[in-house]
Amino acid sequence: MLRKILIACLILSLGCSKKTAGFVYNVPPEFEPHVQKFITEAKTRGESISIDNLIIRYDSTLSLLYCATSNVTSKQSDIQRIILFNTHKCWQNSDQLECLIFHELGHCILGREHDSSLMPKGDAKTIMYPDDIALYSSCVYNVGSNCDFLYRRSYYVDELFNPSTPVPDWEK
Ligand SMILES: [Zn+2]
Repeated sequence: MLRKILIACLILSLGCSKKTAGFVYNVPPEFEPHVQKFITEAKTRGESISIDNLIIRYDSTLSLLYCATSNVTSKQSDIQRIILFNTHKCWQNSDQLECLIFHELGHCILGREHDSSLMPKGDAKTIMYPDDIALYSSCVYNVGSNCDFLYRRSYYVDELFNPSTPVPDWEK
């Protein structure tokens, strides 16, 4: 009996602490793999990130100028993060969707601001470039390999977690 009471108390207190914090994690299945990938990419670079306060949802009132927006630009963990996606989807493949989600998580998890810097050959230095979700996209249509920029992904993900990442060879 005592054990049952103890377990009941434990469940109650856990429930309460979650309620007190008031954070919600609600990420639709179509976005969830990319959020998990972000956590994995951080981990392989020595950064431990846990995300328990993130809501991602579509918002039909979002201006067509934006693919998505994040409610905060902050590393602070004790805030409810909300990413709103335009109902007019602006990505054309899963690489572009990942880039978009990584950009928004860059704002609300890593606290990174927009950065319009360009590298020597004129490509954006970072995923935090304001308006380009095709930085490391594979081909949208099957028209040869000139449109395949997936080889750039490792640099852009490195840079996301470490802005001092050196300019990659393909940009020199
Ligand atoms: Zn942004």
